[in-house]
Amino acid sequence: MKKLALHWKIIIGLILGVLWALVSSKLGWSQFTIDWIAPFGTIFINLLKLIAVPLVLFSVISGVANIGDPASLGRMGGKTLLAYLITTVLAVSLGLTLVNLIKPGALIDEDSRIDNRISYEIWAGEQGYEIKDGINYLQEPEYLERAQRITDLSKSELQDASVASKMETANETKDAGPLQPLVDIVPQNFFKSLSDNGLMLQIIFFALFFGICLLFIPNEKSDPVTKIVDSIMEVFLKMVDLVMQAAPFFVFALLAGVVSKMAGDDIGKVYEIFKGLSWYSLTVALGLVLMIFIVYPLILKLFVKKIPYSGFFKAISPAQTLAFSTSSSAATLPVTMECVEENLGVDKKITSFVLPIGATVNMDGTCLYQAVAVVFLAQLHMIDLTITQQLIIVVTATLASIGSAAVPSAGLVMLIIVLDSVGLNPAWIAIIFPVDRILDMMRTVVNVTGDATVSSIIANGEGMLHYEGPKDPSDTFDLD
Ligand code: ASP
Repeated sequence: MKKLALHWKIIIGLILGVLWALVSSKLGWSQFTIDWIAPFGTIFINLLKLIAVPLVLFSVISGVANIGDPASLGRMGGKTLLAYLITTVLAVSLGLTLVNLIKPGALIDEDSRIDNRISYEIWAGEQGYEIKDGINYLQEPEYLERAQRITDLSKSELQDASVASKMETANETKDAGPLQPLVDIVPQNFFKSLSDNGLMLQIIFFALFFGICLLFIPNEKSDPVTKIVDSIMEVFLKMVDLVMQAAPFFVFALLAGVVSKMAGDDIGKVYEIFKGLSWYSLTVALGLVLMIFIVYPLILKLFVKKIPYSGFFKAISPAQTLAFSTSSSAATLPVTMECVEENLGVDKKITSFVLPIGATVNMDGTCLYQAVAVVFLAQLHMIDLTITQQLIIVVTATLASIGSAAVPSAGLVMLIIVLDSVGLNPAWIAIIFPVDRILDMMRTVVNVTGDATVSSIIANGEGMLHYEGPKDPSDTFDLD
């Protein structure tokens, strides 16, 4: 009998996990699921991250050392960053177009939008912002009592602890000087970068630095180092294979935990949460689906003729299903690397630095979602954003997605900065918070697919793409 492909097993694990959570919620067992099943999901993410951090270090060093000369490295690096920037801007523009066409925020009932608008006006007044568009309800006497009620309400909303802590993180980022991101890339103590999980860019910086210097020392001295680095990298890749054997079970545990935490012992709640935000969620989802099934395949068709439509998806499906289950491009990175290398035939020299950088800075799904979210929130508060404000969103969402860490909810935190850049209330992230996890899962799939697309283009341009037709993706993680 033909072996069931790994991504199907993962999808089955995922569906069973959701079903389990729903059933256990109905039976009042959610706490049991959270205590006894969900921890295996956490173990899975820990394992993947445990591999990802050293894998990035060794793979970038090995990639650079094997390229042979700094000039080609510079050329490839330049092309990679440009390609990442172009796909990101494409994604934000698509998000903006969709949200302006569909207007999900305007589909909410008029009365609650007026409430929202009044709360915005109160907040803008407190900030000293001048309101230029639309009616100013605060100036109309008949709305004053309503305004009073809303003030009390919005105060309690702000006290929500999880939102408050997210605001704090984002504010720290915002308050830093313009060159702070650059300063943050250069670590003063490399071991600290390794121990703090989020410092991927510092690790990449160090590895590039180390790899480039390896190129400058005589071969007889550099060869042993390169060999050791290559071998260590192989060990980490083997670890990925091993962990992936149990991926379907882990994914079951992960999803059972995520949904149980959302639903508690009342599944009806999940339905209620989605009802009000369904048009917004659908707009984000539509954008993400278009990216995956239309935009990336078109880009591939344009630049890499060799890889057929279905072949591309077959090759990276394990990475996509994993991105969906874990909501983290960093945790998915080891699997993305194997899929792109083995199934798409992209040379190790390319994947080893294009993908780690991509996982850290290229988040097309995240910036598309941020663009939709900001405009949706504005529509919900009856605010017309000007063309200039929309252009500011293109720039800030691009930067915010670059700055988002490749972990769950990072995009939501950075959304605060985008809201702030166009004078909107950052606390509004509380409104979309309830549906964020599912959208996070979807945008992470796009983030990972974007990285795979760009690495194929770069490899093709360098003559390092050796695609040999569709392979059975379940062989990718074989142990022998
Ligand atoms: N979870 C996303 C990622 O890891 C980032 C985000 O929150 O948008 O790619």
